[in-house]
Order: sequence, then structure tokens, then C-alpha cells
Amino acid sequence: MGYAYYEITRNSATIQAGYGVEAVCERVGCTEKIDRGLGYLCGRTPGGDEHSCGGYFCGQHLYGDNQCEACTETDEEAA
Ligand SMILES: [Zn+2]
Ligand SMILES: [Zn+2]
Repeated sequence: MGYAYYEITRNSATIQAGYGVEAVCERVGCTEKIDRGLGYLCGRTPGGDEHSCGGYFCGQHLYGDNQCEACTETDEEAA
């Protein structure tokens, strides 16, 4: 298990991800320091999938099945 650094493609842009990459929660207005490890990822797929945006959020802004607020709502509407 060594996923400290890797590159992912998100919204047609390549970004650095992994638990070794320092980041800030992507929720607007939140300045919580996080990293881009899977523990802070919305969903389970780096870069996002049909259930998640692939954003990185602090523990306060991840809900339910490790999704951000917007994706939690989208998933509920689709269900
Ligand atoms: Zn999301
Ligand atoms: Zn946050």
C-alpha cells in the first residue's frame, strides 16, 4: 500500500492526489486542511464516478457513504 502520490484526471484536468498531497476542503467557505487520500475523497473512485464528484472534503463535509453534500442529494434524487 503506497498511494502517497499519484495523478488523476478530473474535469479534464490532471491533478495530484494521494495522502501525501496537502489540500483544503473543497466545500466553499471551508478552510479545513486535509490531504487527497481516499479518506477525504467524495465516493470511492479518484476522479469521480456516477455517484461522486471526486472532490476532497474534510470529515465535517462528507456524509453517509463518504459523499459530499451535493452528491448525497443527487444520489437520493436518483434513487
Ligand atoms: Zn461529491
Ligand atoms: Zn470542510
